[in-house]
Amino acid sequence: MLRRLPITAPPATGETIKSFLQRLATLNGIDYPELWGWVSEPETIGKARRIIVGPRLADLTGYPADRLGQALPELRKGLDWQLLRDVPQHSCPKCAARHPGGQVMRLFALHHYACRRHGYWIGPPDVGEGPCLPHLHELPEILQAQRRHNRLVRERGPIPAFDGIIHAFRILAGLWRGGPEETYGTSQWWQWDRRLDVLIPKQQSAALFSHSRCYAAIYPEAVTIASLLASPFWRTKATFPFGDPDTDDRWDFTEEFGRRLGIEEYYPENPQHPVHLWADHHATLPPIRPAKVFPDRRRLSSDGTAKTDRRAIDSHHKSAVIFAKRRYAANALTYHHHTMAPVIDTYMDRPGPYARQRMRLAADASHHSEMEE
Ligand SMILES: [Zn+2]
Repeated sequence: MLRRLPITAPPATGETIKSFLQRLATLNGIDYPELWGWVSEPETIGKARRIIVGPRLADLTGYPADRLGQALPELRKGLDWQLLRDVPQHSCPKCAARHPGGQVMRLFALHHYACRRHGYWIGPPDVGEGPCLPHLHELPEILQAQRRHNRLVRERGPIPAFDGIIHAFRILAGLWRGGPEETYGTSQWWQWDRRLDVLIPKQQSAALFSHSRCYAAIYPEAVTIASLLASPFWRTKATFPFGDPDTDDRWDFTEEFGRRLGIEEYYPENPQHPVHLWADHHATLPPIRPAKVFPDRRRLSSDGTAKTDRRAIDSHHKSAVIFAKRRYAANALTYHHHTMAPVIDTYMDRPGPYARQRMRLAADASHHSEMEE
């Protein structure tokens, strides 16, 4: 018979069930697997995979089930999982401080990159990023960008904003990689190096490297460009062909792109420029949607634990070593797969990790179609 825990604590907003139970287990000196056993049941009788039972968690903690459901996404009925990240992340340390019992792991909204209240970078989920999230007191523009990002989501909706920021990160990483000549030497791109030096100080290149911090360096401009890409007016302009002598629309678009980055009269001639690649391949398409959602990713094992891929950790260490040598953050971003983004290889000039991934996806697809036949 289940009884109430002697010591209880409320869940944090967006917290995962696992994180909440681990804190309760610590506070009460119980093993986490034991606690998980109490509040879960087999999904199918006779199978090892277990699922949470909301009313049992309510009995155990003394909090009403509907209140738990407001905080814990996994208990919320009819939740659109596409609007939340697919991997739990460390909460901002200040937000977590009022929740006792250990680390708080949260599922953030797609557009949540920084805690504006306390000034911490949250970033996209990244195996390289531990609980010590970087504080942004030297980079207030990143916090202002989060506010603009929130506004973009309100104006255009979460999915078009997601499409915009993913492509903006790709385009700007391409620009950063190209260096000053891409932007006539006048752009903001040196700011990206300056921010990077704050986020990953040179002396700690390998230890503090994370793709998440590299994204932080370009985040303010990425939000600016995301709002351009999400605008139906500019999207339509971009669909006009490159080099069409009859219309100036494509040039209007690149000029506006440059203007928003602080570059006047921006007309890149190279058809392989990331701005043209976006216009040629993506401007006419509907917005990309998150490729993976948390319930798929979780691959529920018997205790509801999400597995961290050994391969992902190894590849993070490799990236950190490469980064520490020359600090080419733009390269690191070009070959990084932002969480939840579908495979986009439009901006790749040589097959990277995506070539293998694409082959795997193609193999999976043909395997499934064979099964269906
Ligand atoms: Zn916070």
